[in-house]
Amino acid sequence: MTQLTEEQEDLVGLIRTFVDKQVLPVASDFDHKDEFPEELVEAMKEMGLFGITIPEEYGGLGLDVFTYALVIKELSRGWISLSGVINTHFMAAWMIQTFGTEEQKRRYLPRMATGELRSAYSMTEPHAGSDVQAISTRARRNGDDYIIDGQKMWATNGLRAGMVMILAVTDPKAEPRHRGMTAFIIEKDPGVQEQPGITVPGQLKKLGYKGVESTEIVFDGFHTPVSSVLGGEAAVGKGFKQFMAAVELGRVNVAARAVGLATCALEQSIKYANERETFGKPIAKHQAIQLKIAQMGTKIKAAELLMLEAARLKTTGARSDLEAGMAKFFATETAAEVALEAMRIHGGYGYSQEFMVERLYRDAPLLILGEGTNEIQQLVIARRLLEG
Ligand SMILES: Cc1cc2nc3c(=O)[nH]c(=O)nc-3n(C[C@H](O)[C@H](O)[C@H](O)COP(=O)(O)OP(=O)(O)OC[C@H]3O[C@@H](n4cnc5c(N)ncnc54)[C@H](O)[C@@H]3O)c2cc1C
Repeated sequence: MTQLTEEQEDLVGLIRTFVDKQVLPVASDFDHKDEFPEELVEAMKEMGLFGITIPEEYGGLGLDVFTYALVIKELSRGWISLSGVINTHFMAAWMIQTFGTEEQKRRYLPRMATGELRSAYSMTEPHAGSDVQAISTRARRNGDDYIIDGQKMWATNGLRAGMVMILAVTDPKAEPRHRGMTAFIIEKDPGVQEQPGITVPGQLKKLGYKGVESTEIVFDGFHTPVSSVLGGEAAVGKGFKQFMAAVELGRVNVAARAVGLATCALEQSIKYANERETFGKPIAKHQAIQLKIAQMGTKIKAAELLMLEAARLKTTGARSDLEAGMAKFFATETAAEVALEAMRIHGGYGYSQEFMVERLYRDAPLLILGEGTNEIQQLVIARRLLEG
């Protein structure tokens, strides 16, 4: 297992205490009410989590992607919606610090680091999810502005964000299509459903991943300055590659969420198995339950090792599409499997809202679908393996 530095140990310990004391006791209540956890998010701001990877010169903590993954795992052990609040923000910040102009870094990163400005990240459209090159949101040049028209779908944090990183088509005739796509940093009024050129219809109703909002964002003649092209005018047509780089990072993050969720499911199962008695002894003494616990623990450990390896590679800047794909695929399938096993161990009570495993069971499938579905992950993995 990778040795953590003292700083990493301290940060992980801080988040673990936060999760044990402040998150786990209330997460299922927030989930059942589908309520945004304002106070928990304020506490995350105070801990500096909104600026965790933003360089210190822009007011962030300046920590690496590996440390970020450790933090996300701990947060997700409490509730994956909390990691959802910072994940799109982290990806937008990473895109600005990696591809942005100096002016863009100075304009956005300091306010993003404190959480004063929160961000969404939006590629998906109603007809285009896995097939990103099929998006049709259009950005037309008009003097010193671009005019945006189109509809985005499933934007996490889409309402409360004051900034959205979007992908739009600037040249519909480009071949291949992705060369005609550009990333824009769109400023909007946070928490507002209607403003000139932008509508955020109500929240999409979901199975799980509650508390954090997922929305459509409709652009209708929205004006944004040319200076909002991520990386400046020279980067027109480079948006697809910029977004794909961020998605790869997002896969490590989803793997970390999955390990966190699965860890929680195992911990809850162990606790319950030691308390619940059948046939005169705790169910933990029945071999059938022991086999489940052994399999859950082993798969979670394997998932964590894959995730840490991908996060480590990503931190060094080495190519990591294969490792990130494997980590995302295996960890998220494990999370879904382990959440179901946790429900079985809880018997009928696992199906009750009284115990948190029902929330874990509803949250886990999102991880299979998001940041590239697991079918798409397998295509990425197979392509790399077949390259030889
Ligand atoms: C709660 C939630 C939050 C989200 N947040 C965001 C966000 O913040 N920003 C954002 O941009 N997006 C977000 N998404 C969108 C998410 O990334 C997409 O839903 C996902 O990429 C799948 O796209 P799709 O839903 O259009 O499914 P489709 O692409 O229509 O896929 C349908 C099915 O076909 C399979 N499939 C598709 N193509 C292939 C192929 N070539 N080979 C084999 N199988 C294939 C898929 O695996 C899937 O099983 C979010 C989604 C959800 C549910």
